[in-house]
Amino acid sequence: MNSQDAVSLTKSLLRFDTVNPPGRERDCARFAGAMLEEWGYSVEYFEYQEGRTSLVARAGGNDRKAPLCLTGHLDVVPLGSRAWTKDPFNGETDGDKLYGRGASDMKAGVAAILLAARSYSKSLRNTPGIVIVLTAAEEGGCVGSAQLAKTQLLGKAGAMVVGEPTSNYPLVGHKGSIKFHARFRGVSAHGSMPELGVNAIYKAAKALARLESFDFRTPHHPVMGKPTLNVGTIEGGNTVNAVPDYASIGVDIRTVPGMDHEEVLERLRRELSEAELDVFSNLKPVWTAPEQEWIGRVFEICKPYLAEPPAARTAPYMTDAANLLKVYSGAPTVVLGPGEAAMAHQTDEYASQERIRQSVAIYESLIRDWCRP
Ligand SMILES: [Zn+2]
Repeated sequence: MNSQDAVSLTKSLLRFDTVNPPGRERDCARFAGAMLEEWGYSVEYFEYQEGRTSLVARAGGNDRKAPLCLTGHLDVVPLGSRAWTKDPFNGETDGDKLYGRGASDMKAGVAAILLAARSYSKSLRNTPGIVIVLTAAEEGGCVGSAQLAKTQLLGKAGAMVVGEPTSNYPLVGHKGSIKFHARFRGVSAHGSMPELGVNAIYKAAKALARLESFDFRTPHHPVMGKPTLNVGTIEGGNTVNAVPDYASIGVDIRTVPGMDHEEVLERLRRELSEAELDVFSNLKPVWTAPEQEWIGRVFEICKPYLAEPPAARTAPYMTDAANLLKVYSGAPTVVLGPGEAAMAHQTDEYASQERIRQSVAIYESLIRDWCRP
């Protein structure tokens, strides 16, 4: 295989418009799946909705050790309101930079996973093998992986590599999240006679003050720091001359390892006793101790490609790992991919061609290491 292939495969993936919403990952998933099948992988597709296609491919496998999972998502975020100076879907290059929506987040990562898989397609028999999981609908809530984790398709995995953009720096996890709407009910009345109503916005306002000073009572995590809480939305009322009978606030909590999500929610229900809580996302933190033996080997493999030896750091963003670990319970997990984290979701998003090529070599080493006799 020549190194040019990793970049040209990224370009091919960029040409599929998988902007989410609406997503439409099917053609891109089929394109990747057809290649994997040709290389000898068994491929299964899963659609949780029409056209929202995820893929699970595997090769090798034995009774002694579970396979290594390499995972990435196929969807990309919208182009945004600012005009691009490069074609977002045509893989334009300028020097080392490869431009496109998803170049960094994360079609370069998917391309590198695919090419590393190709290198080993013939030699995985009687080894623990690998399982490749390419998901739909990661952006905006990891919906595709949540649905996939409810099926039997994922099988087992003994460790996991998430190819999200890290500039090939191995990150040992990320925070978890709890997202909910708190809904407040009141009683409507004419705005000239507020004493006849119950104002739902006043209820929400009192709750906001309690949320702003909410104390998680959690010790600092040595790497991830503190949990956070942000109120991101507020709505309520229909018109200025009526007592509002409805108000709602949207809350985003980011958690650190060691926190019990159910306990946090229980405390919040008590604090916001007048509200009805609609929890629409609840994902645990992803964390593997940097002392863990496989993580040590991952650090060694990445070291030659980095300016300094890797230390324990975590990603600022969520990944599908939180859902996949519901099935691959306890699998040590590293977030490691060729894209630039700073470029994710940006106008004129780009990736480094050099890093894309290096990433194939890193993934190959990880597969070799995991599947060695
Ligand atoms: Zn991503």
